[in-house]
Amino acid sequence: MKLPEGIRDEDLKLFLDFLSIPTTNDNLEAQLKGAHFLKSRLEDLGFNVELLPIKPKGLKLQGRSPIRFSDEDSERYIVYAYPEGMNPSELPLVIYGHYDVVPAMGWEEAFSPKLLEEEGDIRVYARGANDMKGGIFAGLLAVGEYKSKYGRLPKVKFILVTDEEEWSKGAWSIVYHYKEILEGAKLVIVPEIGDGSAEAGSEGLLIGRRGRVVFDLRIKGIPYHGAKPIEGVNPVLRLRAAIDTLSDLQLGYDPRMGIYDSLAILSLETPSYQLTIPEEVRLRVDLHYTSEFLRKLAFEGAELSSGYEERLVKWLEWRLYPKVDGLEIKLMDRPTPFPPLWMENPEKVREILGDIPKRYNLIVSVGSSVADENVLATLKAEYPELIIVDLCPVGRGSHSVGEWISLNSLVRIRDILLEIF
Ligand SMILES: [Zn+2]
Repeated sequence: MKLPEGIRDEDLKLFLDFLSIPTTNDNLEAQLKGAHFLKSRLEDLGFNVELLPIKPKGLKLQGRSPIRFSDEDSERYIVYAYPEGMNPSELPLVIYGHYDVVPAMGWEEAFSPKLLEEEGDIRVYARGANDMKGGIFAGLLAVGEYKSKYGRLPKVKFILVTDEEEWSKGAWSIVYHYKEILEGAKLVIVPEIGDGSAEAGSEGLLIGRRGRVVFDLRIKGIPYHGAKPIEGVNPVLRLRAAIDTLSDLQLGYDPRMGIYDSLAILSLETPSYQLTIPEEVRLRVDLHYTSEFLRKLAFEGAELSSGYEERLVKWLEWRLYPKVDGLEIKLMDRPTPFPPLWMENPEKVREILGDIPKRYNLIVSVGSSVADENVLATLKAEYPELIIVDLCPVGRGSHSVGEWISLNSLVRIRDILLEIF
């Protein structure tokens, strides 16, 4: 098998080693191993590396944290690296990534990486190959290449976190404990998966994402013996009005993002005893929305602790209450409410990236799902000028069996990063 030009056997071996570490969020030991793997790679390249505990020991959270950190999080780390001898707050570029991966999900070879030649491409199959150890590795390769070309390191810092796949604790930890590591940054590049680049066979550039909240709707009834339903109130019958109203909610379209809001019912439960009308129906609802929606609700810029939740619940109540009896609405955890809309500064993006998107035929789009970038978007007030984009490699099968990344694409991502350096 002929490797794409510019990737050496020893590079590939390191990449496969990285993929073999099962850095799932339930495997603390492997997460530590993953952090140390990255630390030594970065140190080999000449970086000064700090391992920042996600939950700093002995530190109390100020204000209300949307995330509950556990004691284990004192042994999970953000890998923070900047070139030895450089002032980290004078580095304009950040490569941001997450080294945690989702579980194997029944895929026996998830952590035994394999190379296959397919469709004129070399694909690396492993859990996390595409989401997103491949992207992180492209960043390391780019630095190595820059160093051998110019004899010094580029002005770039690395922020590599964990727990993106679960609660985004790494990103929340930055928001709460380590804001200053973003100081001086002008552009954050996340070499992370996107929609559609695999089909097109070309890398993508995401310039925004939707925000997301999940809420529980509880519709109460009056339980009674199933043989005499007329004596009680069956909440399932009230459900129809709720579903009709949810379907009619005025969701929007963001012309600048070119994407719609969407609403999905994730689950429906009717806990009940035998022969009894259920006491309640529980619906879990997922709302993904654009910045236009936020503007409509006028909670753009609202602090996490002060008000976006209340306003959102009010918005729902106003639409549902007159039509649905016995209703209770509760917003669920894992808040990623703010869509990062970096294209509000399109000329800034253009200024920084120049003709790179055109030359590399990057498909420019907006991400339909949320990620750590949504969490970092809560720092808008502190870093109003900061731009975050996703540079999406060609790959497929994230969060499923048979995840792969194109090795040729990984090399192209490396080249794009090298140019941006
Ligand atoms: Zn990811």
